[in-house]
This record gives sequence, C-alpha cells and structure tokens, in this order.
Amino acid sequence: MRKQPQWRKAQSSGIRCGSLPGTPPAPVLPAGDPRTAPSLRRILRSLLATGRLLRYVEAVPETKEESALDKLWQEYARSFRDFDDLTLARWCSQTLGQLHGRAWRLSHPLVGAYRLGSQLAHDRQVWLKRLVNIPAGYVEAPCCRAPLLPLFTRDVAASGLICQHCNETAVPFDQLAKGLQARYRTWADTYAPVHDVAHWDDKQRRVSRDYESAFENAAQRAEELLAEAAHDLVPLLLESFPAVVWEDQDECLEVRPEDIVL
Ligand SMILES: [Zn+2]
Repeated sequence: MRKQPQWRKAQSSGIRCGSLPGTPPAPVLPAGDPRTAPSLRRILRSLLATGRLLRYVEAVPETKEESALDKLWQEYARSFRDFDDLTLARWCSQTLGQLHGRAWRLSHPLVGAYRLGSQLAHDRQVWLKRLVNIPAGYVEAPCCRAPLLPLFTRDVAASGLICQHCNETAVPFDQLAKGLQARYRTWADTYAPVHDVAHWDDKQRRVSRDYESAFENAAQRAEELLAEAAHDLVPLLLESFPAVVWEDQDECLEVRPEDIVL
C-alpha cells in the first residue's frame, strides 16, 4: 500500500510525495523546451530512477537542485516582504476576487503568486487582524480563518481539501457531500495504484521485467486521470466554494502541468 502522508509537509520548491504543497511545481529538467518531448523526459527520469544514469545523479544531487529551487522561490517571495500588512491584505483580497468563479491549475502563475502572498499573510496572521473584509463569496477557513480556497489533490480521500494559506486540511473528506465522496473515492482508489508504480521496490521492478515501460504507462494513465479530475470532478466543488485549485502534476511519475492537456 502507498504510504499515506499525514499530509505533505510544506516545501518552498514544490510538492513532493510525502510533503505539503508550498509553491507551484518547479521543473526538474528544463520545462517547456519543445525539443524535449514529455515521453523523452520521462524516459530520462525513469532511467535516473532505475539508477542507470547514476553518475549524473551523483553529479547533480537532488538536494542541491532543491536548494537552488528553494532559493529561487525565496527570491520570488521577497517582493511580497516589502508589502506592509495592509497592502498585503488588500493584494490578497483583490487577487481572491480575481480567482472567483473558476477552478485553477496549481501551476497557474496567478495561483503561484497568490500562494506566495497568502502564505506570507498567514505567517503574519494578516487575516486575523481584520485589515480588510473577506472578499465576497468566500467564507473563513476553519483551519486558520483565512478565506477558504481549497486545493484538490490526489490525496483527497485521505486528506480532504487543503488550505492554500496554512497547508492544513481545510475541508475533511467526510464533510464533503456524500455524492462527491463516492466519486472522489472511486477516482482516488483508481489513481493510487497508478501512482504506486513510481514507488515500486526493487523486487516489484524486477517482477515487472520492464520497469521503464511500466513507469511510462503509469505516467500516461496518471495524465488521463488528472485530466478526468479536472474535467469531471473538480468543477463540482464550485457549487460549494467560490474558487478551487487542483494539483496539476504528479512529481513522482514525472507528470508535469504541460503533460495534462485539457
Ligand atoms: Zn488554513
């Protein structure tokens, strides 16, 4: 069984399995390069995963890469630190107004900017200071009393909907409508074994005989399932919430936002 996180811990450079979403996903290999097809990138990464390119892994250790990405996101966040509390509260409120009425990819730049601003607002407890009104249509999140902007993830059945401000569970799964619970659980139960392929141990990989193909097939299936969630499942939340964000990637299967075509 897949190890179910208590929830994914906050990281500034992106979402890792077993860690919380901190900021939008950041590329491992250069993203958006048309010369590098998704399948090729995946093959490269699955080779890395199976250790065939170990010398390159050693040459570019992930910790160093994460550290560089962390620094980049810290640099992005720096611009918000110049905002005083009132300016930050107004900016967050206005941006929430612009997010209203739609389901957004986590990778969307507007959502990325909002996450940077809103997490700083959370750190400063700006929403508790009542400097501005909560924008029309939003309610207070029970977790941190910021406006409720829920994040739908592949862990929805275990972790519910996640708060964009404090990264805690904002809406526990059992508080969703029964009809939604049934549909989301079916989807999550379908997704879990697909995701698990990325975490197969050596024995499971040997049994599969061709792990690279199994990994590639799982990644393609994950793309389909994430697109299905975006089309059919996430918009249902707009009946209950003014705006919603969905996790448009699977970092363990190397599925990037640009791989999920809607
Ligand atoms: Zn919260």
